Amino acid sequence: NERLTLQSEKLKLAGEIAAGVAHEIRNPMTVISGFIQMMNEDLQSPYRAYTGLIQSEIERIDLIISEFLVLSKPLAEQKNRLNLSEIIEDVFHFFEFQLEQRQIQLIQQLSKEALFVYGNANQIKQVFINIVKNAIEAIDNDGTVTLISCHDEGFAFIEIADTGEGIPQHLLDYVFEPFYTTKATGTGLGMMISNKIIREHGGIIHIHSEEKVGTKITLKIPLHQQIKEGA
Ligand code: ADP
Ligand code: MG
Repeated sequence: NERLTLQSEKLKLAGEIAAGVAHEIRNPMTVISGFIQMMNEDLQSPYRAYTGLIQSEIERIDLIISEFLVLSKPLAEQKNRLNLSEIIEDVFHFFEFQLEQRQIQLIQQLSKEALFVYGNANQIKQVFINIVKNAIEAIDNDGTVTLISCHDEGFAFIEIADTGEGIPQHLLDYVFEPFYTTKATGTGLGMMISNKIIREHGGIIHIHSEEKVGTKITLKIPLHQQIKEGA
């Protein structure tokens, strides 16, 4: 598919450029951020209304750079045998406080056996962070996030479902597009990056969503087969 090839070429180039200039952009931004903070602390300043805004926009630039950096890492980072179950547990532990604060109930139905895949731990972790973050952001309050993991025919299946606002059918196709966001402070990069990472691991992401009901994200990742002794 020509359009997709062109798009992935563009993304690869964008990732390389982002990695190259990220540090160059970040250094002056740190300086700007420092001075803006100083100005913000000056209660007499007539510009206080703007300094806060400038600071939040600087944070936004920083977030976009961080997310783009994930794109350029696949080339450099290594793959190992990973315990997927452990990574998922880590991610949910990371969101524990936020889930509790937002009164979101977590329902877990996990595979009894550990699920091993072959991949890059940081990237896989990033995928789960992106998806769980979206789930939490989609829920107003008092919702549930359901996590199911299992395996079948050499694949690990992870399902993360939320009872959030859902995605209208006609917008489903846009979710993986770079910069597509419906959020005031979103970057629109999380799902695009997750999709790229999972594909690089030989897997696929599937989205099932119903407006005002919720969203279910299913990941299918090849299990890492242990090489049998003597084989
Ligand atoms: P961002 O979260 O920065 O907006 P993402 O790439 O993570 O960017 O997601 C893109 C868009 O897809 C979101 O803005 C939202 O509209 C939609 N989306 C993704 N996940 C969910 C979800 N679990 N529930 C509802 N909408 C979602
Ligand atoms: Mg997101």
